[in-house]
Amino acid sequence: MSKDLLREAAINLKRAVPLMLKHQIPTTPTNYALWYAYVGQQNPELITKMDRIVNEYNTCPPVTAELLYREHIADPSEVNVLNMRQNLEAMTIELSQSIKDTNQDATVFQQRVDSNFNRLNRIEEEGLSLEKVLGLVRDLVKESDDIRQSTEYFTGRLDKAQEEIAALREALKRSEQDVYHDALTGALNRRAFDQDLKGLLAQSPEGTCLILADVDHFKSFNDTYGHHLGDNVLKAVAKRLNESCRDGVKLYRYGGEEFALIVPNSHQRKARHLADAMRRTLEKISLKDRRKNQTIDKISASFGVSEWQAKDTFESLIERTDGFLYDAKRLGRNRVMPL
Ligand code: GH3
Ligand code: MG
Ligand code: MG
Repeated sequence: MSKDLLREAAINLKRAVPLMLKHQIPTTPTNYALWYAYVGQQNPELITKMDRIVNEYNTCPPVTAELLYREHIADPSEVNVLNMRQNLEAMTIELSQSIKDTNQDATVFQQRVDSNFNRLNRIEEEGLSLEKVLGLVRDLVKESDDIRQSTEYFTGRLDKAQEEIAALREALKRSEQDVYHDALTGALNRRAFDQDLKGLLAQSPEGTCLILADVDHFKSFNDTYGHHLGDNVLKAVAKRLNESCRDGVKLYRYGGEEFALIVPNSHQRKARHLADAMRRTLEKISLKDRRKNQTIDKISASFGVSEWQAKDTFESLIERTDGFLYDAKRLGRNRVMPL
């Protein structure tokens, strides 16, 4: 069959079905044949009659349709069965296209399309029986509608389910972050710090080290460039520190511009090395201040490091570490204490 004929058949199909829906015409073989003839515009007398009836009743009542069918179409000489068959093939192709356009299980629908093609072939072999052709039209109309409805339904459901899952995941993430994370830097917060350090000291305190880090002269960043840039400095510092966390080391925002790191299964010397590596990586931070068009690259922090000792409590470990941090500040900042 030529492409032009197919296209014409598809166009007629697309005109007939909406008209039938508009006038609430059931998709029976009789009606389909009537409306196909109507949009095909080959029979002016039929068109005039149908227009008049639809005008009067806003639909085409079944009895009238039956009469029109017998008068204008049932005569085999008037039925363009070949046209019908072209129509069927166009539908089958449309069906196949609409399947490709959906996320549905393609193989199931492909089978239905294939079986329709097979039925088309059989009709040709058995001779062009009008009844069979019309039966097939009815099946195809129904089938294409079923597929359209079910794919719309499933695609809609799938989209909705995906939206819901995304929203839940987002809510879950938010609720977790609200409790244990600091909103500005994304680091764990003071509450998480208290729980984690207490838990570690209760279970396996040996080798637990604590690092406290405080950004040097942080107030001057705020004073010179504004609070927003101060926030960006904190984010950049947290990012660098976090990137240096390995082997179970965790980063916490301990206070305003103060961070804590819990280092499990380690020892003082190793933890000091880690702290010094972190100190050096902070020195490399470089930020742009757009308003003043300046580069901020004099960022540093001071560090205090200690290892858990048998006599330690949660409080005494923190106090001793804080003492070392204070020493680092006093001795000129940008350093790790004890040496
Ligand atoms: P030092 O080297 O002795 O630590 O000096 P410093 O300026 O870093 O310390 P100081 O404690 O005097 O100032 C800390 C400042 O940090 C004061 C406070 O306004 C600021 N700050 C605390 N939290 C935030 C924050 O979330 N964002 C910003 N932009 N500033 C903060
Ligand atoms: Mg401070
Ligand atoms: Mg400070």
